[in-house]
Amino acid sequence: MPTISILDGYIDEPTCLGVPPYISPYPRYLAGAAWTFDKKSTLFYVTIDQIRKDKTTLDTLAKSDVVVVVAGTSVPGRYLSGLPASPNELVSIINSLTKPLKLLCGPAAKTGFGLGGGKHVQNIQSVEGVFDLIITGDGDIVLSDLLHQHLNIELVDPAHCRSDPHMIQKFAETGAQIVTQHPFYPQYLIAEIETYRGCSRSIVGGCSFCSEPAKGTPSFRLPKDIIKEIHMLYMSGVRHFRIGNQPCLFSYMANDAGKKEFPKPNPDAIEQLFKGIRSIAPNLKTLHIDNVNPGVVARYPKESRRIAKTIIKYHTSGDVAAMGVESTDPIVIKKNNLKASAEEVLKAIRLINEVGAVRGQNGLPELLPGLNFVCGLEGETKNTFKLNYEFLQQVYNEGLLLRRINLRQVIPIPGTKMFSVGDKLIRKHKQEFHRFKRLVRQNIERPLLERLTPKGTILNDLYTELYEGKTTFARQLGSYPLLVGIPGVLPLHTFLDVNIIDYGYRSLTAVPFPLNINTAQRETLESLPSIGKKRVIRILAKRPFTSKEQFLACFDDPEIGKKLLEFVTFT
Ligand code: SF4
Repeated sequence: MPTISILDGYIDEPTCLGVPPYISPYPRYLAGAAWTFDKKSTLFYVTIDQIRKDKTTLDTLAKSDVVVVVAGTSVPGRYLSGLPASPNELVSIINSLTKPLKLLCGPAAKTGFGLGGGKHVQNIQSVEGVFDLIITGDGDIVLSDLLHQHLNIELVDPAHCRSDPHMIQKFAETGAQIVTQHPFYPQYLIAEIETYRGCSRSIVGGCSFCSEPAKGTPSFRLPKDIIKEIHMLYMSGVRHFRIGNQPCLFSYMANDAGKKEFPKPNPDAIEQLFKGIRSIAPNLKTLHIDNVNPGVVARYPKESRRIAKTIIKYHTSGDVAAMGVESTDPIVIKKNNLKASAEEVLKAIRLINEVGAVRGQNGLPELLPGLNFVCGLEGETKNTFKLNYEFLQQVYNEGLLLRRINLRQVIPIPGTKMFSVGDKLIRKHKQEFHRFKRLVRQNIERPLLERLTPKGTILNDLYTELYEGKTTFARQLGSYPLLVGIPGVLPLHTFLDVNIIDYGYRSLTAVPFPLNINTAQRETLESLPSIGKKRVIRILAKRPFTSKEQFLACFDDPEIGKKLLEFVTFT
């Protein structure tokens, strides 16, 4: 019985996230393939961050018979809780292992390593020599083949893919328990859930920059199968889920998928899925979504409205319908075969706002749009930046809410149409891109943030993640969490509620809520509105306070003290 280690170097694809606190389906399905082959298989799961922190973790890998590395960020972002494995790092780790068979799977094996927006993908050749097998198909299927072939790599096809999603169902269920080995398990781990792969727009070639059309037309997992997998994850202790691994959730089980570019959504299937998840995971803490095609929402408002209402009925608040806008310039839209016009995107934003802008239990609106723009696409001119900026201004001027604006530069991924165009427009418009980004941050994002979370908003259940100087950074769990800086050094890895007191361009400043005035740190007190350093010195000298009157008496201006009463407690 072979011993198998899974090294999670983390993945980030347009339709799937596996950087902590997320665990992607890749390692879970791999574990399932091994345990389906032999339920007594010994399996170790380690993350690249664990290896960085503790080199002795490598001993476990060195003793294994097989080491499978999951890696590759085809759309790299900025991460707070984990750093994806770099090609050089993998070469050094894998070179140090002599005994095991070494396999690489994930986006890195298929298209190479994305190093950052606007940069060329680093070719797989940079790591190829150190691995015994580069799996260009599905890692779980190929691992299963390898185990059945007594680890003889000559007898397996590294490009073998599942022909039907049902082929991985047993893997998905059986592999769920690997989550217990994740360093963030159980309280800070989000399981990314797959509903389908492939894009309906692949029949018209798909968007020029996207690798998803290479997976063909949609191939759906059945609601009962997804529910069963979530049940197994829930039984293993997971409480946070994101239905994020698909190109467009609103198109899940859509009628005529594979025949029409924009198939009609199927609200009943989504109701069945979400209702089913809630019934088998009644005490889940997070149920969020990702990826919604604005072209679908604009074409089918009646069905989309129903779907948005269903999601809100069963999910947890603070949810985001992330929409790929890419560009609002008609020339760029046409040349890159993008999915929606500016008018269609606006319709979709209005619809999601109409249904989802109501504030929910965690302090944020229930469901809001997030917008993704991609710069450097074919046909882009200086006017493109102007049109995109004017579009965002219009969204703001209409009083709409957005949860997120993501501006990135295209990565010319091998196998996509953008690969032949390359990075020439990224280089040409480098200055325009940075200017556009700056203007959006200053004039759109920050005012939107103030509209989204007015001062005094209470946000619940933030998890403290790290310090920067004397500021503690914390986030809620779920899709695209807002980054909150809390002045003061608070205990890490704990949950707390906060009160919003100020804004950065892309982050919020807050103090713990309620704030115990007798134990609060100096930095936290100094950040309170209108208080100033001198009053803080007086408060520190006169602590502890046992009553409001005592507290107010230490203020030169009692009105300032009265305003602070809504923030503070004395015990
Ligand atoms: S609609 Fe475009 S961006 Fe979205 S998955 Fe399909 S090809 Fe990719």
